[in-house]
Amino acid sequence: MVNCTQCSAPAVIEDLDVQPPRSWCLGCATALVRAGDPVVNYRPLAYDEYAQVLTGGSTEALPFR
Ligand SMILES: [Zn+2]
Repeated sequence: MVNCTQCSAPAVIEDLDVQPPRSWCLGCATALVRAGDPVVNYRPLAYDEYAQVLTGGSTEALPFR
C-alpha cells in the first residue's frame, strides 16, 4: 500500500511529472485540482476516482477566463 506524500492517507495516484514520482491521496489530489494546479501526468494506483475529479472539477477549478 502506497501512502500520500502529503498526509500519509492511502494514495490513489502517482504524479509522474516529478522525480521520484510523488503519490497523492484523493483529498490532496482534489485540493490540487481546486487550487488550479492539477496533476495531469499520473498513474492511477487504485480505482481511478481521480479521473472523475479531474474531468468534473477542472472547468470550475481552472481559471479559464
Ligand atoms: Zn493526502
